[in-house]
Amino acid sequence: MMKSSEAALAYFHRAADQLELADSMRRRLIIAKREVQVQVTIERDNGDVETFIGYRVQHDNSRGPMKGGFRYHPQVDLDEIRSLAALMTLKTAVVNIPYGGAKGGIAVDARQLSSRELERLTRKFIDELHDVIGPDIDVPAPDMGTDARVMAWIMNQYNKYHGFNPGVVTGKPVEYYGIPGREEATGRGVGIVTLKTLGRMGHKPQQTRVAIQGFGNVGSHTAKVLKDAEFKVVAISDVSGGYYRKDGIDVLGAIRHSNQNKMSLEGYREAEKITNEQLLELDVDILVPAALGGVINSDNVGKIRAPIIIEAANEPIWAEANDVLAERGTLIVPDVLANAGGVTVSYFEWAQNRQFYHWNLDRVRQELERVMTLAFDSVWDLSRERKVTLRTAAFMLGIDRVARATELSGLE
Ligand code: NAD
Repeated sequence: MMKSSEAALAYFHRAADQLELADSMRRRLIIAKREVQVQVTIERDNGDVETFIGYRVQHDNSRGPMKGGFRYHPQVDLDEIRSLAALMTLKTAVVNIPYGGAKGGIAVDARQLSSRELERLTRKFIDELHDVIGPDIDVPAPDMGTDARVMAWIMNQYNKYHGFNPGVVTGKPVEYYGIPGREEATGRGVGIVTLKTLGRMGHKPQQTRVAIQGFGNVGSHTAKVLKDAEFKVVAISDVSGGYYRKDGIDVLGAIRHSNQNKMSLEGYREAEKITNEQLLELDVDILVPAALGGVINSDNVGKIRAPIIIEAANEPIWAEANDVLAERGTLIVPDVLANAGGVTVSYFEWAQNRQFYHWNLDRVRQELERVMTLAFDSVWDLSRERKVTLRTAAFMLGIDRVARATELSGLE
C-alpha cells in the first residue's frame, strides 16, 4: 500500500515539472521547517497511567504563520502528519490567505477517552508544544477527533504560559472567542465548489445524486449544504457503516439521530444499511469522501463509478488510484481546493481575535464565498489553459505562490 507522503510527493513533482521548478527549490519546499514528536502521558480515570505519542510538523512559513489541524486518531503517524502539513502549505496558498502550513496530532482513539481524560491529554500536549506554537508562529485548529471544546482547552492552556492570546488556535467555540460559521465552514466550502463544478459542467443540482462518506463535522455539514442546494443526497456513512435511500436521505433527521447518539449513525433506520465499501462504489453522480485518507486505492479503484469526486477529506485518493481515475475521465476536485473553507474561516477567526472586532455570520459566509469562488475559478481556468487535471492545476497555483515567497525571503 502506498504511503500518504508518497502520494503527496507524486502530485508535487507533477506540478513542479509543469512549472519547471529547479531541484534546489523543490528540496526547499519539500523538507519541513521543523518536526516535533512528544510524549503525552496521562492518568486515566481508573488510575492507570498511559503514554501516547504526539506530533507537530511545521512545514512552511514563507507566506505567514503556519496553520493546520490537530488530529486525534489511532492511525496518526509521522508520515501522515508530514504529508498533511505540506498539504496545508499548498491549501493556504491556493485560497491565497496569509499562512503557511502545519499539522499535528496524537495517535489515540479519542472515543475511548472520557471528557476529563480528553482534557488532560490536550492540556498535556500543549504543555509539551507551547514553546513552538503561537499566534505569529503556528496556529492549530480542529481536525478528525478534535472539536471546538478541545480548541478551548488549547487556548486556555497556552494562555497559562503566555498570557491572553485567543489567536493561538482557531475553531474555538463561538461563546469562547470563536467566530460564527467556523463549524460549518469546511462543509460549506465543499458545497460552494460542488455547485461551481456543476455550473461549469452545465448540470443541475436537482438531477444530481450524491453519496457522502463520513458524517462528522465535514460530512454532516456538506450533506446539509448540498441538501439545501437541492442536491439528492442518497447515501451517508460513518464508522458504523453506510445508509442508502434511493429517494434521498432526510439529512436533518440523520443529523438529529447522530447528535442524540454520541455523534454516531448507529441505529439509524430510515435508510437501507450498506457498508462503507459499498457506499464508495455506488452508481451516483458525485462521490464525496469526507472521512479518512486513502479510502480510494488500487484495491477498489476499479469499482468506483461516480464520474465526479469532491475530496472533502484530506488525501482520500492514493496517487495510483488517482491516475486510473484521471485516465478514465473522472473529474476530481482536489482536497487543497475542496476543503479549504475551514482554514479560510479559521483565518477570519484569527483576524477577528487580533482586531477584537466581531464578525457576524452573514459576513463570514459572504467572504468565504468570495475566497472559494476566486480560488475555484483560478484552478479551473489554469487546468483548462494548461490541459492538466484540477489537482495538478491547484498544486501549480499553490507551489508557485510558495516558491515566489520563498525566493523573495532570501537566503540569509
Ligand atoms: P470528524 O472526526 O468530525 O468526523 C469524521 C467522520 O468520519 C465521522 O463521522 C467518523 O465516524 C467517520 N469515519 C471514521 N472512520 C471511518 C471509516 N473507517 N469509514 C467511514 N467513516 C469513518 O472529522 P472531520 O473534521 O469531519 O474531518 C473529516 C476529514 O476532513 C478529514 O480528512 C479531515 O482532515 C478533513 N478536513 C477537516 C476540516 C475541518 O474543518 N474539520 C478541514 C479540512 C479538512
